[in-house]
Amino acid sequence: MKNQDPGSSRRLMPVLFVGHGNPMNGIEDNEFTQRWEKTAKTIPRPEAIICISAHWEVRGTLVTAMEKPKTIADFYGFPNELYKVKYPAPGSPSLAQEVKELVKSVKVGYDDEWGLDHGCWVVMKRMFPAADIPIIQLSLDYTRPAKFHYDLAAELAPLRKKGVLIVGSGNMVHNLRMVSWDDFNQPFGFDWAIEANDLFKKLIKERRDRELIDYPSLGKSAQLAIPTPEHYLPMLSALALREKDEPVRFYNDKPLAGSLTMTSFVIGG
Ligand code: ZN
Repeated sequence: MKNQDPGSSRRLMPVLFVGHGNPMNGIEDNEFTQRWEKTAKTIPRPEAIICISAHWEVRGTLVTAMEKPKTIADFYGFPNELYKVKYPAPGSPSLAQEVKELVKSVKVGYDDEWGLDHGCWVVMKRMFPAADIPIIQLSLDYTRPAKFHYDLAAELAPLRKKGVLIVGSGNMVHNLRMVSWDDFNQPFGFDWAIEANDLFKKLIKERRDRELIDYPSLGKSAQLAIPTPEHYLPMLSALALREKDEPVRFYNDKPLAGSLTMTSFVIGG
């Protein structure tokens, strides 16, 4: 790995966007979860982690500020085994405070009730199985537009210099109503899903963030890919943290069940 200098704490921590897919990825060993594990091994060990998950939407902007966040089973109709999973990573009240102080555009509140939802722990459990890195979540505000989430995430940039890993967890293409249940777990995508996934990747590569923020103007395929914004917004949060000339490396770039894509990326590193 290039730039691996244990003496340097000033190196910019990469930023991740992870397509988390099915909650069963919390216990399954498959090509996607294997790549999460491999990806974690390509980046420096984080001092702490901030996760922006599709599954925590509130009015306002909150950070989890408890010492011991609980593992939330925020899904229905899955095997018992999945409800028993715990990801006992510590919280970080001090990082929560740092986020609150850094963000100037909006008042950030402390939360002591949420914890780690499956958008976060399903991925973290595989990336950092020892559960020994402090982790907090930052919420999405369902009353605010995409630009707000992009700008808010950009304010977290100084934390990258302090060894904090910022992870957006969602899915670029995510239309549950159009899932093809016959093709569940199959690497199959409807034409519009592939088209939207390719378009998003092209715009990311060309750094056309403004167009990605204005996603309703991207045409029919993007509209089908983003029927509601919560799985797409964490991707914008990750992009907002990209420095000039930083590379983006895509992985898990595959459709699933017709109307989802697992496409993920690493910024920097
Ligand atoms: Zn999800």
